[in-house]
Amino acid sequence: MIETLRRLALEVANAPDLATALRVAVQQTREAMQVDACAIYLVDPNDRCLVLMETEGLNRAAIGQVRLAPGEGVLGLVRERREAVSLDNAAEHPQYRHFPVTGEGHFNAFLGVPIVHFRDVIGVLAVFQRGSQTFSGNQEAFLVTVSAQLSGPLAEVITASRQHLIPGLSPQYKPYIQGVPGAPGVAIGTVVMPSPLAELDGVPERAAGDIESEVMAFREAVTEVQKELKASGERMKELLPAEAQSLFEVYALLVGDDSLISKVTARIQEGQWAPSALRDTIRELAAVFEAMQDERLRARAEDIRAIGRRLLLELQVDTRAPRDFPERTVLVGDEVSLARIADVPRKQLAGVVCLKGSVLAHTAVVARALGVPAVMGLGDVSGGRLAGSTVVVDGYRGRVFVDPSPSVKAEFARLEREERELSADLLSLQDLPAETPDGVRVPLFVNAGLLTDITPALNSGAAGVGLYRSEFPFMLRDAFPSEDEQRTIYREILEAFAPRPVVMRTLDIGGDKPLPYFTIDEGNSLLGWRGIRVTLQHPEIFLAQLKAMLRASVGLDNLRLLLPMVSSSSEVREARTLLDRALETLQDEGLSVRRPELGVMIEVPAAIFALAELAELVDFFSLGTNDLTQYLLAVDRGNPRVAALYDHLHPAVLRAVQQVVLEAGKLAKPVSLCGELAGDPVGAVLILAMGVDYVSVAASALPQVKWVIRSIPRNKAQDLLQASIKLPDAAAVRRLIHQALDDAGLGGLLRAGR
Ligand code: PEP
Ligand code: MG
Repeated sequence: MIETLRRLALEVANAPDLATALRVAVQQTREAMQVDACAIYLVDPNDRCLVLMETEGLNRAAIGQVRLAPGEGVLGLVRERREAVSLDNAAEHPQYRHFPVTGEGHFNAFLGVPIVHFRDVIGVLAVFQRGSQTFSGNQEAFLVTVSAQLSGPLAEVITASRQHLIPGLSPQYKPYIQGVPGAPGVAIGTVVMPSPLAELDGVPERAAGDIESEVMAFREAVTEVQKELKASGERMKELLPAEAQSLFEVYALLVGDDSLISKVTARIQEGQWAPSALRDTIRELAAVFEAMQDERLRARAEDIRAIGRRLLLELQVDTRAPRDFPERTVLVGDEVSLARIADVPRKQLAGVVCLKGSVLAHTAVVARALGVPAVMGLGDVSGGRLAGSTVVVDGYRGRVFVDPSPSVKAEFARLEREERELSADLLSLQDLPAETPDGVRVPLFVNAGLLTDITPALNSGAAGVGLYRSEFPFMLRDAFPSEDEQRTIYREILEAFAPRPVVMRTLDIGGDKPLPYFTIDEGNSLLGWRGIRVTLQHPEIFLAQLKAMLRASVGLDNLRLLLPMVSSSSEVREARTLLDRALETLQDEGLSVRRPELGVMIEVPAAIFALAELAELVDFFSLGTNDLTQYLLAVDRGNPRVAALYDHLHPAVLRAVQQVVLEAGKLAKPVSLCGELAGDPVGAVLILAMGVDYVSVAASALPQVKWVIRSIPRNKAQDLLQASIKLPDAAAVRRLIHQALDDAGLGGLLRAGR
C-alpha cells in the first residue's frame, strides 16, 4: 500500500505536464482501489468552479464540460465540509446534480475527498461504484491518503503548466507562483540556476574513449578554470579585500601545477577517462597534504579538493555553471548560497528566488543588504522547469510570474521604473537626521558583512555599523581564513567607519549559515550547534577571530564585540575569559589594544529572562529579532511549509521586544535592534514607539526607515504599538500599520511602485 502511494506521488511529481499528472493519478487510484470509476476535479480560480479535469470510468467527453459552482452537487459538499463524503447512493442525496454527459447515472456509490494544499481546497478526488454499497473505512483512509500525497506535487504541476492547460481551466489559472516575500522590490529577468558542486567521489569508473580528445578536454578545462579563477578573484575584490584574491592566485597556480597536469595526463594515457583520472590524482595529492605535520599545510588538502571539483565541473560541460550571466539575472535554487550570489556581477543581479527558506533565511538577508528583490519558500516547485525562462520577481508580495504575458511584463516594467525614481527621491534624505516630527532622534546604524556593503553604508549617512556579520566572509571561502587574513578584512571595515563605532559579531555559523568546509551534520541544526556554542568548543577558531578583531582595532578603538546565540550567562563568562586571554597575548606582544565594549545578542528566548545576570557581564544588548521570532514562535526560519507563520510582527514577538527594551532601561544598559524587524517599514514604526537606543538595518533599507521616522510622530507610533500588541496575529498588525503608513503618504514603501 505504502509502495503504491509512494510510486503514485513520485509519478505525479515527475509528470511533464498537468494532463499526464492527472491521468496517472486517476488510473492508479482506480486500479489500486478496484473501483468502477475515478475522477479529479480542480478549482478554477477565476470563477471558483470545480471543473472535471480527468477521469477513468466516466465518459471522457465530459472533461472540461462539467463545472460546478461552489456548494453545487455532492462535490460541492466535499469542498464545503473539507472532508470525505461517502454516499451509498449519491442520486438520492438532496444536493445531487445530474450531469448526463458523464454517464454517471450508471453509478450509485460515491466517495469524494478534498485535495487540500496549504489550507486551500484545490480540487476533489472522487471514486464511483456501480452498485449501491458503502465504501469501507480502509477505502476512505486510502483515498484521503492519496489526496494528501497528491496535493503537493499536483499544486506544483498545476502552477508549472498553467500555460498549457487542457480545456476546462481558463488559461489565466494562477499566473504566478506564490512564495513568501524575501526582500522588497520588483524585477524582470532571466532565470539562471547555479549548478550544484560537482562531486569527485561520485565520478564513475570508465575507460577513455579517444585518449587524445580526453587529454585535450582536460587541458582545456585547466585553461578555462584558470581564466575563471582570475575573473572570480576580480569580482571577489568587490566583496572581500584585495588580499583575499591571493586565495584565487594560489588556486590558479595549483590548477596549472605541472605535477597535477602530468599525473592526470598519464592516467588518461593509461586508459582512464578524464574525470576519473582527475579524481584519482586529486585524492593522491590531497593525501600528501593530509599527511603533513604542519596544520596550515594540512588544510591545503581541502584546497586541492576544491580545485578538483572546479575542474570536474568544467569537464562536465552540460552541468557547469553558466559563465556569461544574462544582463538581468534572476538566480533560482533550493537555497542560493552567498558564493553563488557573489558569482554574478552586481549590476546584472536582478533578483533571487529560493525554493526553500523564509524571509529571514540568510539569503534573504543578503538580498536585502544588496537591495535586490527576493522571493523565498516557493515550496515544491521543481526549479528545473524554470531554467532559462523570463520571470517577474515581486519581492513585496512574494510572487514569481513565469513567462509573464506582455501586459504583466509591461506593468512590472513600469513598477520597476517607479521604484528607481522613489529610491532616487529618498537619496535627498541622506544628510537629514533620523528625527521624528516631534523631535525624537533615533540613531540609525547599518548591518554589514561584505565589503560591498561599505560604500553604500558610508554614503547612507549611517552612525556606524550596528551589526557586522563576521561569518559572511567565512562563507565566501573554501577554507577558514587565517588570523592575518581576517585582520585585513576587519581592519578595512573599522578604518572605513572610524571614528564611528563598528559592532563586530563573533562567528555565527551553523543553523542556516553552514560553512562548506566545516560540516555540521545534525538533524535539527537550528536548535543545534551554532553561534557561540561552536566557538566556545573551538577556542582556537574563537581566539584567532578575537585576536584578528583586536589587532585590526589598534589605533582606531572603534571596535565593539557582540556574542551570538547566547542562552546563559555562563557562556558569556567563558567568552570573557577567552577575550581576556586574547587581550593578554596581544599586550604581551607589546600592542596597545583597548578592551572593546562587549554585548550579547538577545535572540534566544532564555536570554530575555536572564537580562539581569547578563547585564552584570556586558555593556549592551542587541535584539536579534530574526532568530528570536523563530524561537518564540517555534517556526523554522528556513522551512517553506511554515514560512507563512514566520512573522516578526506577531504580537508575542512585539511584546517580548518591548519587555527587553523596558528591562534594559531599568538595568541602564543600551539596547539596539539589528534584526530585519527594524528594516521593515511596519516594524520601524513599532520600534520607534518602543524607544530602543539605536537600530541597525541593511544599507538599502536605511533611507526608507529614515523616511518613516521623519514622517510619524513618536506619540502616534506609541498609540499604534499599544493597539498592535492587543491584536490577535501578525496579519492584523500589518493591516493596522499599513493603513497608518498609507495615511501618512508612505504607501510607496509597502508595495511595488510609488
Ligand atoms: C537575528 O537573529 O536577528 C540577527 C540579526 O542575526 P542573524 O540574522 O544573522 O541570525
Ligand atoms: Mg541571529
